[in-house]
Amino acid sequence: MARCETCGNDYDKSFQVTMGGQAHTFDSFECAIHALAPTCEACGVRIAGHGLESAGKIYCCAHCAQAKGATSLRDRA
Ligand SMILES: [Zn+2]
Ligand SMILES: [Zn+2]
Repeated sequence: MARCETCGNDYDKSFQVTMGGQAHTFDSFECAIHALAPTCEACGVRIAGHGLESAGKIYCCAHCAQAKGATSLRDRA
């Protein structure tokens, strides 16, 4: 049994996500996304899918990247 890092729930089907060499424990994907997913530079949405990266910034979609001036990106998901 392990306790979720986000909500503190003690759940027997919790799981671990390793990011940057550090293990994190969660009871649900929602909690994992809340804690670990980056947010779009343009619209602030949580990026749970592929996302797009340009010059160290991350965007949820090509539209947002273009809105912030990253013109050479296309959706690759
Ligand atoms: Zn949780
Ligand atoms: Zn966005």
